[in-house]
Amino acid sequence: MNLIETVKSAGIVGAGGAGFPTHIKLNTKAEWFIVNAAECEPLIETDKYLCRTFADRIVVAATAVAAHLGAQHIVIALKRKYEPEIAALQAAIDKAGADIRLFPMATFYPAGDEQTMVQLVTGKTVPERGLPIDVGAVVDNVGTLLNIYSALTEGAPVSSKFLSVTGEVREPIMLHVPIGTAITECIQAAGPRISDYAVILGGPMMGKVVSDPEAIRAAVVTKTTGNLLVLPRDHYLITHAERPIDRIRVQARSACIQCRMCTDLCPRYLIGHQIRPNLVMRNLYRENFIEDNDEFLRAFGDAANCCSCGVCEMFACPMGLSPRKVNEYMKTQLRERGIQVPRNTDCQAHEDIDLHRIPTGRLVTRLGLAEYYGLHAHECRELTPDTVFVPFSQHIGKPAVPVKAVGDPVEAGELLAAAAEGGLSANIHASITGVISEITPAGARIARRKEG
Ligand code: SF4
Ligand code: SF4
Repeated sequence: MNLIETVKSAGIVGAGGAGFPTHIKLNTKAEWFIVNAAECEPLIETDKYLCRTFADRIVVAATAVAAHLGAQHIVIALKRKYEPEIAALQAAIDKAGADIRLFPMATFYPAGDEQTMVQLVTGKTVPERGLPIDVGAVVDNVGTLLNIYSALTEGAPVSSKFLSVTGEVREPIMLHVPIGTAITECIQAAGPRISDYAVILGGPMMGKVVSDPEAIRAAVVTKTTGNLLVLPRDHYLITHAERPIDRIRVQARSACIQCRMCTDLCPRYLIGHQIRPNLVMRNLYRENFIEDNDEFLRAFGDAANCCSCGVCEMFACPMGLSPRKVNEYMKTQLRERGIQVPRNTDCQAHEDIDLHRIPTGRLVTRLGLAEYYGLHAHECRELTPDTVFVPFSQHIGKPAVPVKAVGDPVEAGELLAAAAEGGLSANIHASITGVISEITPAGARIARRKEG
């Protein structure tokens, strides 16, 4: 099998959060191959742990992928303050004699955003709603690279996940768990300091808030789960996420003072995209009066270029408003009206971009997370749950199609559901050895086979 077939067979998808099928992303040639090890969001420990622990493997996989892409530049981008990780990677690069350059970045949010990173590393801006390959770059998360390493060297599919558990726990820890492990088991392993908690799957800025106790019990680790942030149920980040859009719209219409901070600090605006959230907010009072689609496009078209990073809402706005949510709402309105927003494909970053970076430390304080910042995970524990629920959709695109039935025995690593034909999809594999006890449209439950 060639690299693409190996990656496809192993069900590898972007491990950094998006879940884009990697065999499709890598089916190209590129000038730049960038390994994203910058941990976009605060409090997440996973990329750092992987860099410290598996530097040799990262170097091997990066070299193999870059050779496949025909890349002239191989770069591992990470934060300058990651000193042990930089030392481990540099030692692995030197040992292998690899032509890989480390790219240290300042500690700002969103340093790990793919488009921000490409602009910093290559000096080129990815076009609006475009991909890094539009400017000759391919970016893979460091966790994705490790999965590629396992597939290339052992033929191993993606059946487990490294993730950190942070926030209201005894101390942050790393876990290595089978895909489909209940998040409650992960949190229990970390020693929660409170019993009435909510969870953010991912980071505090863009992660998914899960507060309903039933939903928490049902949530499982997937190929894209890099962190669990445990917080009190009444924490600002939890209550903020629960505000209904109707209330957000009313607040936006009545309280926006047009200070423009949301636009001046917007990472997409800074790399040169057409996006001015303050204008969307200013025009909001007219949304129900605009019948003409061209006028609607002029008033709200910028919303299409929002990447939902949350800078405007969680950091910039002095009035506590939510341009991000308004943009998400407006994207739906644009779609429902059938309005196509033109794309600018020749974007230039603003000259003062570096002056508008958001220091992560200040962001963390603004988010009410200062007490958890600066604590690091040193230990990694393996969990071996008795049952797992493996979702068929852990990626962008169509769910995989089950190839097993209830009662079937499965070995860890065996194909459980095959990538759907015609479009984006990815294979899904059993993560433990056992028997399938349940199959639903959402996934398969496997009960572990007891040894002896
Ligand atoms: S969420 Fe706000 S800051 Fe982020 S891209 Fe959208 S408008 Fe810009
Ligand atoms: S930062 Fe807030 S108040 Fe200022 S323009 Fe943006 S939405 Fe309005």
